[in-house]
Amino acid sequence: MELKVYTLLGRAGCGKGTQAKLLTEKFGLIYIGSGDLLRKRVKQNDFTGQKTGQTMKTGALVPTSLIFMLWIDRLEKIKQGDLAELKGIIFDGSPRKLIEEELLEEALGWYEWDRNYKAILIDISRQEAFDRLTKRRQCAQCGQLIPYIGAYKTLEKCDKCGGELLVRQDDTPEAINLRLDLFEKEVAPVIEHFAKKGTLVKINGEQPIEDVQREILSKIA
Ligand SMILES: [Zn+2]
Repeated sequence: MELKVYTLLGRAGCGKGTQAKLLTEKFGLIYIGSGDLLRKRVKQNDFTGQKTGQTMKTGALVPTSLIFMLWIDRLEKIKQGDLAELKGIIFDGSPRKLIEEELLEEALGWYEWDRNYKAILIDISRQEAFDRLTKRRQCAQCGQLIPYIGAYKTLEKCDKCGGELLVRQDDTPEAINLRLDLFEKEVAPVIEHFAKKGTLVKINGEQPIEDVQREILSKIA
C-alpha cells in the first residue's frame, strides 16, 4: 500500500488540529505536530529549551533550524521503527513559510517518503478565522471549549454540564491580526507552491467538522 504523507495548512482557527487527529486515527498515521515537539524540547532545560519556552509564550516564531532539528530527529526515529507497520505521516503546524516547505521536501526525499506527498488546505476566510479566534467560549464550570462554529454559535449553556459560557480569548485582537498577517505573507506562497505542483487538496473549512472530514476523505481516497 502506498504510504500517505500529508501536511495540513490553514489559518488559525480552521480546525487543522482536530482534522489531523481524525485522520491520524482513521488511517493509523504517525502525527508530527511542531507544537508538541517544541513543548517536549522545552523540558530539556538547556539554553534552547528555556528560550523556546519564552518564545512560544510571546507567540513569536522559533527559528526554522530548530524546527528542522526536531523534525529530522523524529523522521529518523520513524525510519528506525517498524516500517512494515508504517501507514503514513501527517504534519501539523508547519511549514510556516516557503523555505520550510522546500527543506521538508528535501528531507522527505532523503527518507524516500516523498512519492505520495500532498498538502490539505482547510480553507476559511480571514474574517471567519478572526471571528472564531475572538468569539469562542469556555464553560465556567467544566472548562469545555465551545468553538465559534455552526450550531455552537447560539448555544446558551454548556451542552455537557449546563454551566455558564464565557468568551475565552487567548490573544488580543492585535496578536490575532499579526498571526493572520503572517499567514498572508508566509503561508500563502506555500499554498501557491503546492497548487503549482498539483498536490494541493483544498477543503471548505466553513462547514461542520464532520462535513470537513467527509470532504477530506472523499478527496484523498
Ligand atoms: Zn460545562
